Amino acid sequence: HGRSNGTDGVTVYDAQIFSNALKLISMELDLHNALINQEFFLVYQPVVDTITRAVTGFEALIRWKNSQGKIISPTKFIPLAEETGLILQLGEWVLLEACSTLAEWRRTNPLFKNLKVNVNLSARQLSDLELTDIVSRILTKTNLPPECLRLEVTETMLMENPDYADITLRRLRALGVGLCIDDFGTGYSSLMYLQQFPISNLKIDRSFVNDMEKNPANYEIVKAVVALAHALGLTVVAEGVEEEEQRIMLLEAGCDFSQGYLFSRPIPPQEIPNIVSIMQAPQKCLPQAG
Ligand code: C2E
Ligand code: MG
Ligand code: MG
Ligand code: MG
Repeated sequence: HGRSNGTDGVTVYDAQIFSNALKLISMELDLHNALINQEFFLVYQPVVDTITRAVTGFEALIRWKNSQGKIISPTKFIPLAEETGLILQLGEWVLLEACSTLAEWRRTNPLFKNLKVNVNLSARQLSDLELTDIVSRILTKTNLPPECLRLEVTETMLMENPDYADITLRRLRALGVGLCIDDFGTGYSSLMYLQQFPISNLKIDRSFVNDMEKNPANYEIVKAVVALAHALGLTVVAEGVEEEEQRIMLLEAGCDFSQGYLFSRPIPPQEIPNIVSIMQAPQKCLPQAG
């Protein structure tokens, strides 16, 4: 430990804490300005049918291009936005942006008729009493049918305050919005417990998908989760699919949908219509690549 290394060690250790704290504070200020200066944008990653590879929808993922032009990952600033409460405004912006983008695609391109957009919620949003009203207002404003929107929440968010989460999710469900469990397997992973929530879809965390080929135990977990999810009436998405071999294994496990670099990275909205027209159902007639 740093503190047992004598005076120099302590100095270095404290200086590091201080400099990290400064970085956090300055990032906090930057975040505030970023919202005003419209430095946030969304990229979209296709979610595909595991069998046909046809696009079934997208996950909207936030990015921040700071004033120096550097793109910052949400894993860096979402926790900070959570802490400061800015996430409520930011999350509302994400919802509006994702819904109006899909609504616009639907107006101009018949290929988007049955496609959905997934939006990640944060813990603070889920415990915001106004969330359902906000979502409802955005759907009306953008004229997006509720079933085109799916909200992603993590197990951890649900278990932090299960009674409360249950009420909010039921309200959202009553609106007609779809609900997904994100990163499944990294939290409590109790499907039986999860069954009490009005969830329709489960996303298996990419840590299980990653090394399925090398780690038979993880493949067993994936197969068991798919089977149990199906028995409970849920559909399943595998996250982080990077290899064709993984797609085949998922297909054999009965996993309905897949998402990952194998199909597409998260991309700017301008590129989405093109990807959708390339990755349509006729692909299933092509010989299997790879
Ligand atoms: P997530 O919701 O689990 O999103 C999936 C993450 O996996 C994304 O990272 C995506 O780029 C990445 N990914 C997709 N396919 C692959 C693959 O084949 N291999 C690998 N290695 N990674 C893959 P990203 O965009 O950096 O987002 C990270 C996390 O930040 C998200 O995890 C989500 O928890 C959070 N996040 C992103 N956008 C939002 C947002 O608008 N609101 C909130 N509250 N959280 C967000
Ligand atoms: Mg997600
Ligand atoms: Mg995830
Ligand atoms: Mg995640």
